[in-house]
Amino acid sequence: ADLSRPFRLGQHEVHISASIGVAASGVGYSDAEEVLRDADIAMYRAKALGKARCVVFDPPMRERALGLLALEADLRRAVERGEFRVHYQPIVAAPTGQPVGFEALVRWQHPVHGAVSPAEFIPLAEETGLVIELDRWVLRTACAQVAAWQAQFPGHPLSLNVNLSSQQFLRADLVTYVEDVLYETRLGAENLHLELTETVMMNASAAVQGNLARLKALGVGLHIDDFGTGYSSLSYLQHLPSDTLKIDRSFIDRLVGSREGEELVRTIVRMAHNLGMKVVAEGVETEAQLELLVALGCEYVQGYLFSRPLAAADAARFMAPSQALAAG
Ligand code: C2E
Ligand code: MG
Ligand code: MG
Repeated sequence: ADLSRPFRLGQHEVHISASIGVAASGVGYSDAEEVLRDADIAMYRAKALGKARCVVFDPPMRERALGLLALEADLRRAVERGEFRVHYQPIVAAPTGQPVGFEALVRWQHPVHGAVSPAEFIPLAEETGLVIELDRWVLRTACAQVAAWQAQFPGHPLSLNVNLSSQQFLRADLVTYVEDVLYETRLGAENLHLELTETVMMNASAAVQGNLARLKALGVGLHIDDFGTGYSSLSYLQHLPSDTLKIDRSFIDRLVGSREGEELVRTIVRMAHNLGMKVVAEGVETEAQLELLVALGCEYVQGYLFSRPLAAADAARFMAPSQALAAG
């Protein structure tokens, strides 16, 4: 409670918080180090739960921590062992159902646990810094794949969306890496769209803003992923160097049958258009959602209604000439 009170450092008012882990001594511990270790595990749990709280240790926490540690070790080896795959989910022009491109989504086939969801291993990869190497592998693999499809299906408009972790944008070598990949794979810069979160866009640091500006100058598209879940303020939005907003799935979920839900999406689409940006709706699962999105003027849609993310060989069938995806 004392720490949560703001205090002054020179001219500044400073707010801090504390995450506390507690382990009770006495039960089955033979030395102090074991108690400290478990208190530490509880503290990391407190941080993971959103910080500024107190968590009391219990034994399943240790198993979870050990499980994460094992997964982290496996993750390090997975890159070398080639256990990652890239899947491709079509992005479709809303009014016509024509696929215009794909989003690359990484998949991990764990030798023992089977398919591990990115929701589980991306945060771990970010924590350990492995995400840099992983993202770059996905970028290179997907650019090569889409360039191959372009050669195989000439005349088919084909763009590629790749997710990059916020950490990439702090790196001085990001733009050179992207340039190298485009050069090696012969994918046109205008065909590559990098997906980043609002938080990255809002980051005012010179390193991040410099990278964004240089990527844009290269001709690479910048798409804001999961739009609506971050902390964008309207005054910031107009200065963003992005060309497309991807409306988060949670808004599409609440779109049909709720007046507020519809108004929210209508407002986002209108705002994007006023700022000269296009809109992709994520997580479109029903015909009713699609119809409403078309009526609201949303340009592109992506979701299970059209296709789940597919292995490259299966995704290729979307490129057959003039094939419109039969919705529903
Ligand atoms: P995201 O970039 O927002 O990707 C969309 C997620 O929604 C994907 O989950 C996709 O499979 C799922 N999805 C698509 N359509 C539907 C639908 O109609 N209904 C539902 N319920 N879900 C749908 P996925 O593949 O599990 O990826 C989760 C997140 O992991 C991604 O969210 C992205 O933030 C991250 N991610 C995936 N691949 C990479 C990568 O290569 N690098 C980085 N840094 N992050 C990645
Ligand atoms: Mg994405
Ligand atoms: Mg998203």
